[in-house]
Amino acid sequence: MSPKSQNVDTMRNFNRASVMKLVLESPGIDRSRLAVETGLTNATMTRIVQELLGSGLVIETAIQKTNQGRGRRRTGLQINAKGGYVLGLSILAFNTSVVLADLSGAVIESVAVQPTDLSDARQTLDEICAAAEKIISDHDIARDQVLAAGVAIAGYLDVGGGTWLHSPYLRWPPFDVGKSLENRLNIPISVENVNRCIAISETRVGCCAGLTDVFLVRAALGLGSASISNGRVLRGHNNTAGQIGHFPEGRVGAMCSCGRSDCITMVASGWSILDRMELRDAAGDALDVIEDQGAKLLKVLDQANTDKDVAHIVRQAGAALGNHCVTTLRALDPERILLTGPLGRSAIYGQAFWESLVRNGITTEITTAHDVSISTPSMAASALGLSECIYSPSFDVQKILANKEKIKKASANTPLVL
Ligand SMILES: [Zn+2]
Repeated sequence: MSPKSQNVDTMRNFNRASVMKLVLESPGIDRSRLAVETGLTNATMTRIVQELLGSGLVIETAIQKTNQGRGRRRTGLQINAKGGYVLGLSILAFNTSVVLADLSGAVIESVAVQPTDLSDARQTLDEICAAAEKIISDHDIARDQVLAAGVAIAGYLDVGGGTWLHSPYLRWPPFDVGKSLENRLNIPISVENVNRCIAISETRVGCCAGLTDVFLVRAALGLGSASISNGRVLRGHNNTAGQIGHFPEGRVGAMCSCGRSDCITMVASGWSILDRMELRDAAGDALDVIEDQGAKLLKVLDQANTDKDVAHIVRQAGAALGNHCVTTLRALDPERILLTGPLGRSAIYGQAFWESLVRNGITTEITTAHDVSISTPSMAASALGLSECIYSPSFDVQKILANKEKIKKASANTPLVL
């Protein structure tokens, strides 16, 4: 392909993605409004809309009369929710699950997966993919209608975004996670660190929709963060930005998963709360005890609502997180802080976090998982799959059109059976 035709294709794909996003955000929008919003000519818009109608991704809404002139009518467009599907996979220490969602982003089903041995990467990927295939067939969805998958993973990938670098809990060897899943599922895959995945999902379609500068802290057994700055994920030079849990705390506490004993994880996380209550398993972050520790943490958070001594420990952890976020928040200057994870759902932890920020002069608005419902990791992963693989210039609409043509020809050639 010549560089010129490549450029034309790139532009075409970019324009098509812009049109799809506008149709998703403004159901019923008509062609002339789309042309105005995108700055494209009517001829280009007609071609793109024909392509989207032909592929079944977009459908026409009922004809509506307009106020402009007698007898003028317009046909709007909307996303055909059942025109395609996306998978969301989450691979976390104790939250491995699969979501099937339609093209509008509505979740059809969410299924928890219990990997036989989470530390075995190959087997875990096989089991997750088998669960994904089962959901698709349970809903009688044609396999080629599943167009992409997003993956939220508890770890960090390399700069290229495909190869697994490290995770404190999963301890998988380095391999190309995206390619491994693409080979199994045979669809485009977008993989992202779980905290970033939730931040992307919430700023695109969730409680922070429309905001461009958001700082997310996910407080669970461990701590993680993600930053959306000027609408983009802050990745850092090595694509590992956001490891807030390993900020040095100064005081020496219990041993962190990274091998140090002065990380804020040891004063502000779920581990620190379990440690103070002498409930932390000596095996620490071994995979087989994490699930048990996660369940214990949820019980403790519940207990904090009625037991003032437990509440005090939870409050201290929330306040410690607030104190340690002050410097980062001054450096990033977000318009909203999003506190998620099991500790984010605790009103006591969230209140202490907020109070310690205010004491330090930070008045940024805070949304917590206690105030609003925040996407689960696999729901966020399905939103990632939609935005990175479908409402995206990388989406291969020609493949869908070719498939439709093949089906049409095959059915035309089938002899009538009486
Ligand atoms: Zn650490």
